[in-house]
Amino acid sequence: MTMATLVWDYLAEWEDERADIMDAVETVFSSGRLVLGPSVAGFEREFADYHGAAHCAGVDNGTNALVLALRALGVGPGDEVVTVSNTAAPTVVAIDAVGAVPKFVDVHPDTYLMDTDQVAGVLTERTRCLLPVHLYGQCADLDPLTELARRHGLALLEDCAQAHGARRHGRIAGTTGDAAAFSFYPTKVLGAYGDGGAVVTSDDEVDARLRRLRYYGMAEKYYVVETPGHNSRLDEVQAEILRRKLRRLDGYLAARREVARRYAEGLADTDLVLPAVADGNDHVYYLYVVRHPRRDEVLEALKAHDVHLNVSYPWPVHTMSGFRHLGWAPGSLPVTERLAGEIFSLPMYAGLAPDVQDRVIDAVRSVLAELS
Ligand SMILES: *Cc1c(COP(=O)(O)O)cnc(C)c1O
Repeated sequence: MTMATLVWDYLAEWEDERADIMDAVETVFSSGRLVLGPSVAGFEREFADYHGAAHCAGVDNGTNALVLALRALGVGPGDEVVTVSNTAAPTVVAIDAVGAVPKFVDVHPDTYLMDTDQVAGVLTERTRCLLPVHLYGQCADLDPLTELARRHGLALLEDCAQAHGARRHGRIAGTTGDAAAFSFYPTKVLGAYGDGGAVVTSDDEVDARLRRLRYYGMAEKYYVVETPGHNSRLDEVQAEILRRKLRRLDGYLAARREVARRYAEGLADTDLVLPAVADGNDHVYYLYVVRHPRRDEVLEALKAHDVHLNVSYPWPVHTMSGFRHLGWAPGSLPVTERLAGEIFSLPMYAGLAPDVQDRVIDAVRSVLAELS
């Protein structure tokens, strides 16, 4: 029997780490503290230290990490936030959730990252924040954004949901902007066994606001609410699991880079467009996204080889029905729209076994040969 090949699978990793994960669960359940206890505090300190940042606030998921960070940075109703449509929908959902308006710029046709040359052209007097996405595991070009933010008095928020441990010119993702939002959704480079998120910042006041916003708006238990907030706490069990997994993060990064290296080797002489790494970037390969002009035929033919792949993401956010009222007509972001029809993801996760990967490489090669 051949097993269907999945784009993501954590079960090999689970087998490997089971004792440590179960010990994490046991530790929390027997601690007497189930909410905002020592595991959340410990993870926050360790994740901040991993970044060389002053603070980390654990929250319930990556979307709310963005929502709370936007609010803590003073972004609210009617403000404009510059971002990309070539991202996971939650980036834009979070902007909408605080009542702000996304202003999209297009992306580079080779790296698929924010085209920072377009940012100055969409700034208005309502612009409050720049929100680049470190898509698929590599950093957007932060230097020009830092410069624009300084010149125009804008906040800079990094969407790091796909880029744990990524670096640009040696600097770790999440430490250039005023704050950075992380997701620990299970598929992410650092994933919990359920939902989780965090905001990293070195600004004391932003961190203090985040801690109030995730706790109804209170500075501590039964304290007065000055600005009504949310309930967006990171769960104690997920935090303790994340502490154990954070110790392994550099190992996960190395494993993902090895998977990427094997794809590059195995697919080099095909007509598939492989991921381009921007100069100065250390890619962490949250996703291994390739491109082919006959994408849909390739995916269909791969099914016959029992290889079922995903597209991340098939619909640019500005074309989704829930955002059509923003008025971004089809054709307004041509590179983003063209990419959406050509990209697809090959299996990528730290526990991907070489024989499974070889099966994928062989299937892709034979499908491409049939099509050409
Ligand atoms: C996953 C993701 C999010 C949202 O994270 P959740 O934990 O699923 O809420 C936000 N932005 C990007 C770019 C993501 O990939």
